[in-house]
Amino acid sequence: MVNLIPSEKPGVKLHYLIKAPENTQWALEKKNSWDASKPATVYVTPELTKEGTPCKAATVILRTKGCHWWWSSGCTFCGYFNDTRDDVTNEDLHNQWNYSMEKLNNFEEVEMIKVYTSGSLLEDREIPIQFQEFVLKETHRLGKHLVIESRTEQLTSKKLTWAKKLNPNFTVAIGLEAYDDEVLRFHVNKGFSLKSWHRAVEQLKNHELRIKAYLMFKPPFMSEGESLTQCIKWVKAVVEDSDEISINPMNIQRGTIIDRLYRNGDYRPPWLWSLVELIKRVHKFVRPENGETSRLIVHPTAAGKPRGAHNCGKCDVEVAAAIERYSVSRTLDEFSDLSCECFSRWKEEVYSDQNLPIPIGVGLNRRNKIEKLFDFY
Ligand code: SF4
Ligand SMILES: [Zn+2]
Repeated sequence: MVNLIPSEKPGVKLHYLIKAPENTQWALEKKNSWDASKPATVYVTPELTKEGTPCKAATVILRTKGCHWWWSSGCTFCGYFNDTRDDVTNEDLHNQWNYSMEKLNNFEEVEMIKVYTSGSLLEDREIPIQFQEFVLKETHRLGKHLVIESRTEQLTSKKLTWAKKLNPNFTVAIGLEAYDDEVLRFHVNKGFSLKSWHRAVEQLKNHELRIKAYLMFKPPFMSEGESLTQCIKWVKAVVEDSDEISINPMNIQRGTIIDRLYRNGDYRPPWLWSLVELIKRVHKFVRPENGETSRLIVHPTAAGKPRGAHNCGKCDVEVAAAIERYSVSRTLDEFSDLSCECFSRWKEEVYSDQNLPIPIGVGLNRRNKIEKLFDFY
């Protein structure tokens, strides 16, 4: 809270004084239009249990106050603020939970419930402690495996000891994004370091909780070729410490820094071919001959759309479907029949990026006609 001039009035959060996208008129109107008694979204997807058996999972994305890191700064790609409301109460969150239960038949058909909050469930500044307690207890009572998301700073021994008493076995997904301190700082603005991630992992291991790592494919200010080189390294670096690794290829969300770069022509979302190549290159590390070290999940949000990972437009559906299938089947056979004329263009782009000193890469907009790409006047 800041009060620059002495005043009787209560302080204003510094964040509200900044001309950030979330303080623009359209963002505030959108924010206040949400119904706080309903979750942002609720759906069911095919999943695998921790033993590797196919099952169904419910995903409940709650409408919350959002992420405390966003209030003071925020990650360069994160558009979660679009889904938040500042005044969500404990009662609202209970109403959202009841709505989700009703919508998904009391969670009878699912074995797993992912409770996401556009922030960290175990962060007291974001989620009332009573509701954290309720989610932990209730999912345990229902006999469903709980998956939550968290930044690293909440995962202290004290907090996890408390949580384990309410729910002895759950998964914590951390948005690590990159196994590289410079990328975390300058490309992602993550607000935590690798040291902090290692500390959190150690605590989760001490408490025998499952660990999921999210890695970002193609952060801002990085070429396609460099992203491929880096992401392969990051998967190898986290594989021993993660029960699951989920690769999130960049998709451009409104009002973010990456959105601004994208609209200015300084960033292009990744190719689907890069994701296929990434999977092929790391498969033997996540699934060595003698068993599985970690489960690799690649789920390209908005695949095939200009703001999501995409190819030429002709092969996107087929390539994205193969990538999705890999996350469940875990076999490279999914990619054996894929081909398209855009493959050679992707290959040349990656080769040039990896061999020429062009920081943001040589790639051009691949959804425009080739003659339009040079139409500067
Ligand atoms: S920590 Fe997560 S929720 Fe918070 S700003 Fe970054 S990506 Fe968004
Ligand atoms: Zn194609």
